[in-house]
Amino acid sequence: MSPVSPKLIDSHAHLDYEYDDSVDELIEKAALAGVSHIITIAAEPASLKRVRKLCDNHKNLFHTSGIHPHEAKDWTEELFSEVKDLSQSPKCVAIGELGLDYYYDHSDRDSQLVCFREQLDFSVEVGKPVIVHTRDAEEDTEEELTRHASDWRKQHGMEKPPGVIHCFIASEKFAEFALKEGYFISFSGIITFKNAEDVRNVVRMVPMDRLLVETDSPYLAPVPHRGEQNQPAYVLSVAKKIAELKEQPLNAVAKITRANTIRLFSLPLA
Ligand SMILES: [Zn+2]
Repeated sequence: MSPVSPKLIDSHAHLDYEYDDSVDELIEKAALAGVSHIITIAAEPASLKRVRKLCDNHKNLFHTSGIHPHEAKDWTEELFSEVKDLSQSPKCVAIGELGLDYYYDHSDRDSQLVCFREQLDFSVEVGKPVIVHTRDAEEDTEEELTRHASDWRKQHGMEKPPGVIHCFIASEKFAEFALKEGYFISFSGIITFKNAEDVRNVVRMVPMDRLLVETDSPYLAPVPHRGEQNQPAYVLSVAKKIAELKEQPLNAVAKITRANTIRLFSLPLA
């Protein structure tokens, strides 16, 4: 019997990376942990073809199209065309992950800003939600997302652009900004880490109807799996932690995060 009902969705995993298990085994283990679907996120240029192929071969997967800020130094017109092409795939549910990472600075900041902006603009053009990565770059992220919101309004007439701040580790102030702008906030295994009290405080303040859960596999395995390679099955530990912090039954967390994920990404699921 599933440990949780309804089933969970892992809203953010990188299944195109190297794992000890095969993707079939990962999906099977996820199912046993009560996880029915996984969104596999494009990040590197080579991910674009791989995530599509994974989705062609596995029915419980959806994918995204986009380039991570770490790879912004490789952003070219040609790569942008690949992102555009992939976004037309029937199982592509969002643009991302995109954003700014001034903690690692793997790409220079000017390149990061160009790559972020062009993908945000593209998401307006195709009317798809965005998956935003931001680390140590709150001010610039706020500025870009504010501009994005006004572009979205002009194009779509809707008040707020759809999107999620993924693997949230920013400040409470940034969470307030993101919620005001209409974003969902997705929490990963970080909320189970001993030194993450600040992030747990953000969990406590985010309304239930704006929460998503994710693993960000293969990184950031939650307690009690720390030190292992992360995998979508472990999103159950993230959901359990949210249940504890929100003082809600686990099934209530499953129900609302599942509904939120379906709504944000327009997934063809019940
Ligand atoms: Zn990621």
